[in-house]
Amino acid sequence: MIVAARAADEALSRASAWEIVGGLSEPSKMPAYSYGLPAKECRVGSKLVGVPGSVCHGCYALKGNYRFNNVQRAQYRRLESLTHPRWTEAMIHLMHAIDMRHFRWHDSGDIQSPTHLANIVAVAQASPQVRFWLPTREKVFVSSHLKRHGAFPENLVVRLSATMVDGPPPAGFAHTSTVVTSGASCPAPLQNNACGTCRACWDPEVQNVSYKKH
Ligand code: SF4
Repeated sequence: MIVAARAADEALSRASAWEIVGGLSEPSKMPAYSYGLPAKECRVGSKLVGVPGSVCHGCYALKGNYRFNNVQRAQYRRLESLTHPRWTEAMIHLMHAIDMRHFRWHDSGDIQSPTHLANIVAVAQASPQVRFWLPTREKVFVSSHLKRHGAFPENLVVRLSATMVDGPPPAGFAHTSTVVTSGASCPAPLQNNACGTCRACWDPEVQNVSYKKH
């Protein structure tokens, strides 16, 4: 009885789970909640942003609304939350408490550590009702995770992003994305900059998605 009472005390509410992870974001283009981290803290991207011709040069997540103080504060709050001992539990709680079918990791920012990636995988494993899309430039974290733990869960599509505009997709990964000056497969620019009914980024059958350079 005492153990049961303690477990009930410690059970997360939706509000406390939201607070632990620093809240979710709702990009207007997306049909789903997302989780935005500061783009300045991208490990690979923060170096590429200074390289002309790279896909990070002129990064959208360092411009426009993303520069507002309230957005920045929320992103850094989430960044700090990644090491909270109940982060994974809280995120799983939200995946079940909120009616969602799709979720995008990182409309801004990227994987911060091997533990961060492992926690994302744990969230996907515990939330089979949600399809997850994780775009990333962190090849080293992804490769070492695959080597140690095997394939990602079926409901988590991890897309490795190309380095250069009009460059090839990263080799050796099941799911990738590229940025092109013409012939993009992403229909968003033709439909009000929104996904609409398209879910290609979340679709494990789609090996590569190409985005038009902004
Ligand atoms: S390819 Fe489809 S799902 Fe991906 S960003 Fe473009 S419109 Fe959205």
